[in-house]
Order: sequence, then structure tokens, then C-alpha cells
Amino acid sequence: MDLGGKVALVTGASSGIGRGIAEALARQGADVAVNYRGDAAGAEETAALIRAAGRRALAVQSDVGAPEEVERLFATLDRAFGRLDILVNNAGVGGGGLIHETSFEDWERVIRTNLHGAFLCAQQAARRLIAQGQGGRIVNISSVHEEACSAGGGAYCASKAGLRNLTRTLALELGEYGVTVNDVAPGMILTPMNRRAQEDPAYLRWAEGQIPLKRAGQPADIGSMVAFLCSEAGAYCTGGTFFVDGGWMLTWPPV
Ligand code: NAD
Repeated sequence: MDLGGKVALVTGASSGIGRGIAEALARQGADVAVNYRGDAAGAEETAALIRAAGRRALAVQSDVGAPEEVERLFATLDRAFGRLDILVNNAGVGGGGLIHETSFEDWERVIRTNLHGAFLCAQQAARRLIAQGQGGRIVNISSVHEEACSAGGGAYCASKAGLRNLTRTLALELGEYGVTVNDVAPGMILTPMNRRAQEDPAYLRWAEGQIPLKRAGQPADIGSMVAFLCSEAGAYCTGGTFFVDGGWMLTWPPV
């Protein structure tokens, strides 16, 4: 899974799964740009882990849901690294509520980051990968909720389902350029987004009881799948959804 000489961008990498992915890519030899929206200290912690692995790191602030900020993000990478090989669209937010009670602002907040953000970054990355002519990798971090819908999670589920078909469409369009595009769908991973699992031991015990492997996942579980897909070992995978969920989806729909 050697990624020596490759340059990667991981969005939303100041915490959680994004940090786990950035670390995993750096351990395989990639230089990594760490995108963050507001948590500069968290982004610097991730950058320090990358440097500790002996690779170059650059923390870049940018809201992935804002077209002009995404343009600025990629222009900064062009100046700093001069190339791009791997994009991981990881930035995401939860929330939503019952559809008939959801305000347009709440709906838009989720779709803007989770879906518009992935589109905007994939577009900038694809243009560069095509121009470089050396192939590349795009990995979208979706969720088991790209398939498993949940009452009260409408905006999130819709954003992740959209990400699944964005992945497939990009895979069709970029295959001829040697660019693979895949979708990694985590189950329950212990990160700041999963605050209830972190803070409520009874809930965590109950939830882990539903998972065939009987444990919640860690960011490193997602990082190793992403590193595989970005390496030569994953060269013939494109357009796929890879569930990394301890077997959770086997229990869906619940009976
Ligand atoms: P997290 O809250 O730790 O990480 C999300 C990151 O995205 C944060 O660093 C946040 O600052 C960043 N972000 C949010 N909006 C942004 C924006 N507009 N621009 C740039 N960055 C932005 O949570 P996490 O669990 O690490 O989530 C990472 C990804 O994994 C998300 O896409 C999430 O939907 C997905 N996911 C998480 C789980 C889980 O159980 N934790 C399960 C399935 C999918």
C-alpha cells in the first residue's frame, strides 16, 4: 500500500475520521493537506501526526460548501505542493430532524457540506487529475445511512444517498483518465460526531450489541480502508461502496 510521492487532500481532517484517514495516508508515505473549517488547533494536531510520520503536512482553512473558498483551497495546494493525487471528501455534519419539522436552513446546512462540498472538491480535483495525466483517486466518506434510512435523519440520509450516486457518476466519467472513485460507508465510529456513544455508556453497550463484531469502530478502521483504495492494491476498484461497519448493515432492515 505504498503511497510514497503522492499528495493527498483530506477535507474535515481536524478531528475524528478525517484525522484517522490523514494519519493512515501519511503512514503509507503520502504528503497530506489537512482541510478544516473552524478548528485550527485540531488541524495543527493532525498536521503534527503527519509530520511525526515523516511526511509533509499543510493545514488549510476552508468551508467546503462555499465555491469561492474551495477554489482558494485548491489554489493554496497548487502553490504548496504543485500536484494532487488523492482527494478524500470526508467533511460532514449530522442533524436534520423529522422532515415535516425541518427548516430549510437545517436541510440546506447538511446538504451544503455533505453533498455540495463533495461536488465542489471533486470538480476541482478532477480537473487537476485529468490535466496531470497520471490517474488518481477520489474517496467519498458516506455512511451506512446512504442505504439505511432513519426517521429523524432525513437531510443526512438524503445527503449520503446523493453522495453514493455522485461517486458512481464520477467513476463512470473519470475511468478513462485512470482516476478511481469509491465510496467508504462507515457504521458507528467513535468520534465527536457520535457524542451520545461517547457520553452514554448504556447507549454504547446497547448499540455495540447490535453490531455483529460487538464493538464500535475507530477512525483507524476507516483510515486503513481508504489507504487500501488509494494504493496500487486498490487499483481495480471503482464506483464501489465499501461498508466498514463491523457487519452492522447485515442487521438492516431490523426485524
Ligand atoms: P467529526 O465531527 O469529528 O468530523 C467532521 C469534520 O468535518 C470536522 O472536522 C468538521 O470541522 C468538518 N467540517 C464540517 N463541516 C465542514 C465544512 N463545511 N467545511 C470543512 N470542514 C467541515 O465527525 P466524524 O465522525 O469524524 O465524521 C467524518 C465523516 O464521517 C462525515 O462525513 C460523517 O458523516 C461520516 N460518518 C461518520 C460516522 C460516525 O459514526 N462517526 C458514521 C458514518 C459516517
